[in-house]
Amino acid sequence: MTAEVTWLDVWTPQEGADRVRALFAGTFEAEPEGTWSAPGRVNLIGEHTDYNGGLCLPIALPHRTYAAVRRRDDGVVRLVSAQEPTGIRTVDLADVAPGTVDGWAGYAVGVAWALRQAGHPVAGFDVAVDSCVPYGAGLSSSAALEASTAVALDEVFGLGLTGSDEGRAALAALCVRAENEIAGAPTGGMDQAASLRSQDGHALLLDCLDGSVRQVPFDLAAHDLALLVVDTRAEHALVDGQYAARRASCEAAAARLEVATLREISDDPRGLEWALDKLDDEVQVRRVRHVVNEIDRVTWFVALLDAGEVGLVGTLMNASHASLRDDYEVSCRELDLVVDTARATGAVGARMTGGGFGGSAIALVAADEVDRVAQAVADAFAAEGLRAPAFLVATAAGPAL
Ligand code: ADP
Ligand code: MG
Repeated sequence: MTAEVTWLDVWTPQEGADRVRALFAGTFEAEPEGTWSAPGRVNLIGEHTDYNGGLCLPIALPHRTYAAVRRRDDGVVRLVSAQEPTGIRTVDLADVAPGTVDGWAGYAVGVAWALRQAGHPVAGFDVAVDSCVPYGAGLSSSAALEASTAVALDEVFGLGLTGSDEGRAALAALCVRAENEIAGAPTGGMDQAASLRSQDGHALLLDCLDGSVRQVPFDLAAHDLALLVVDTRAEHALVDGQYAARRASCEAAAARLEVATLREISDDPRGLEWALDKLDDEVQVRRVRHVVNEIDRVTWFVALLDAGEVGLVGTLMNASHASLRDDYEVSCRELDLVVDTARATGAVGARMTGGGFGGSAIALVAADEVDRVAQAVADAFAAEGLRAPAFLVATAAGPAL
């Protein structure tokens, strides 16, 4: 059987800007003051580590969300999105508080709210949004929406935060607040940092304990390799509940171990075994084992990149997937099928990426094997009667601007 392989579109910055400018003009009958954009992201390794004060290693995707913005003289925000054909949403900034803005608008309005909470002089605005970041695919369309809004408001209201990494880190933290408190979605901080603080051609080593970053050169083409991203298009219920349960488990284990975050266990000279021995809950044992080992894998992954041994990171990707599947229990049939099929077709390594229960998986493959691996995955999905997945090839792109 030969299934059809669907490749996801990517727009050039000019295309994205033109589209969103036209949407703005057609909706609000005025020209925007400018257009801004922010990338989705894919995490190379370090999953479910961000809310444990750990390490992760995302890259920004060439797929971006575009925002066209014009300031208003009142406190009103009007929003329109090409991805949400429900027309114009109107929100009064004075009324915004946790639980008051439902649906997608909360992600963008939440950023204005968080900026105002932090004392920044942000008032009303009109915003139009269009995006080629796959929606709800675990590639962080939500952070791309927040970050594109954040850099737009930064410039329109003259806040001057985007000019430095310190300012961008502050914006990322406010985007996290927007997503947690106004959109009401739990998120750990990796996505917003990746969208705002990445650099072209680099992976972002993010230390979630103190928010520090290191830019790690990441050029797969120089090694004749490519990163294939597979959006499983799987829809599983209870994703947020499962995420919350994992976080709660980690917090309970940290409390039992008398540490602020599980990061302290990975830094503790007594080692993982000491910590696991102190836990009497078998589920917590497995959760902690995943988190601590995963943080170590990020360190090894970066060491291999630094040494130019990119071909060797596959083992770490495979180990990460096994740990997420068996110890953290966040994989699913579709993610396992991508990973198993890609490896059987010769991938150097493969793993689920993002929170799990659907979303996307990544496979590191020889550059001239991309089509063959994608075909094999598409065929495997068709053979199992699953919804057809979608594919893209990821390169390390630039940040929100
Ligand atoms: P992911 O971030 O992995 O794509 P999430 O569930 O975190 O998935 O975020 C998806 C949600 O973010 C959408 O349901 C929508 O509410 C909002 N969103 C993301 N991109 C856009 C967009 N371009 N226009 C409107 N809403 C968006
Ligand atoms: Mg998201």
